[in-house]
Amino acid sequence: MTGEVKRAIFLDRDGTLIEEVNFLHRVEDLRFFPFTEEAVSILKNAGFLLIVVTNQSGVGRGMFSADIVVQIHEAIQRRLDEKIDRFYFCTHLPEEGCECRKPNVGMIEQAKEDFSIDLENSWIIGDKRLDMELGFNAGINTCLVLTGYGNVEVHKLKRKPDLIAENLLEAARKIIWWNS
Ligand SMILES: [Mg+2]
Ligand SMILES: [Zn+2]
Repeated sequence: MTGEVKRAIFLDRDGTLIEEVNFLHRVEDLRFFPFTEEAVSILKNAGFLLIVVTNQSGVGRGMFSADIVVQIHEAIQRRLDEKIDRFYFCTHLPEEGCECRKPNVGMIEQAKEDFSIDLENSWIIGDKRLDMELGFNAGINTCLVLTGYGNVEVHKLKRKPDLIAENLLEAARKIIWWNS
């Protein structure tokens, strides 16, 4: 018997789910947006898998350990009542040319395998052009948020995303509307 195929929201972490902190490496520096919990609840209640995909090259640069990244993800989970289904992170440097660093699709391919995801009806929400390019490369829907680097990155886009939203909460509402 084959399992149920599910839609997913792929969430960028820094600047999208939580506030942008350059090379966040201490749990104490973790800052949620005032709307993060509500947005996550809306998407979860709509039946989406919630999957975080984040580039953490600070690990590859030797600035902090992968353990710290895991601790930060555990702290996010506590705050969000364990609503995130999985965190995937790439620790490599851009010049390593790995398959997992966004905008390469390795993390999405891995998630697809782990959860049997319906990519065509899934979304990436992120604040950078590379998040949108990840979406284009993976064949999923794209939503740019204007938090984090979004206000700057919006001008760097070569191809328009499906949606642009002020922040994660507006993104959640627009995606629910889009799918209704
Ligand atoms: Mg980001
Ligand atoms: Zn990688």
